[in-house]
Amino acid sequence: MDEYAIKLENICKEYKSAEGNRVVLQSINLYFPAGQSIAVVGPNGSGKSTFLKIVLGLTKPDFGSVTILNNGKVNDISYIPQDYRNSFFPWLRLKTNLALHLEKRNHDHLGVTLELSDHTLEKFIEAAKDVQLIVDLNKFPYQLSGGEQQIMVLLQALLRKPKLIIADEPLSAIDIHKKELILLYLSNFLIKEKPTTLIVSHDIEDALFLADRVVVFSKNTGFVTADFLIEKQHPRPNEWRYEPEFRTLVKRALEAFE
Ligand code: ADP
Ligand code: MG
Repeated sequence: MDEYAIKLENICKEYKSAEGNRVVLQSINLYFPAGQSIAVVGPNGSGKSTFLKIVLGLTKPDFGSVTILNNGKVNDISYIPQDYRNSFFPWLRLKTNLALHLEKRNHDHLGVTLELSDHTLEKFIEAAKDVQLIVDLNKFPYQLSGGEQQIMVLLQALLRKPKLIIADEPLSAIDIHKKELILLYLSNFLIKEKPTTLIVSHDIEDALFLADRVVVFSKNTGFVTADFLIEKQHPRPNEWRYEPEFRTLVKRALEAFE
């Protein structure tokens, strides 16, 4: 099945500013097969967020093309933007936000379903238990801590069972104890649902821990400076992070940052 394989051909992107032009991405040719989870890493300003937005069609490249092979299906994509708060409607309670993300809209009936069904609520409660999130869904998004908001956004995104996940720094506000649980949850999700996943992280270890493949962008050239597979089977035990095999992979990715 070719659901959500992605082909990028000769992508180039330059930003113009008063200080001069800045080439952010240069001659990017990549093929992501369906079901692969890809970590996109690189230093700040290396073009990771720009790259994800180009894949999504939110930013236009100067040259090149993006082809997403999805067998004609729509609405199977979950995007988690770097500013995760953009995934909420801030004036709506969490339960209504959840409903907007997860309930099927009845377009014959003036558009929008705002009620959370029992079925969705059950799924949410189960997932929240897995990641030890305790939250009152009658609250508004701003009443949660940054980390809690980010976990909510992640659950909202995953409970839709997307076939393509594009996540920009999805774990940046989550503390180290919680992160282990979330990584396990994510890892299990990837095994079970096999979505094509692009995950950007400035935390190279988290990204490598989750991914089947690593693509490194360097800051100054705009080129991809490394692209390699991580063969370790999922779910990966947390202890793997301390083993020489993992440390070697981290070093290999880091060396490609410059
Ligand atoms: P990363 O996500 O790797 O930190 P970004 O893709 O956000 O990097 O940004 C790459 C570079 O492009 C940065 O120097 C940033 O300032 C610049 N940039 C990003 N978006 C814009 C924009 N809309 N207009 C001008 N410059 C931008
Ligand atoms: Mg970014």
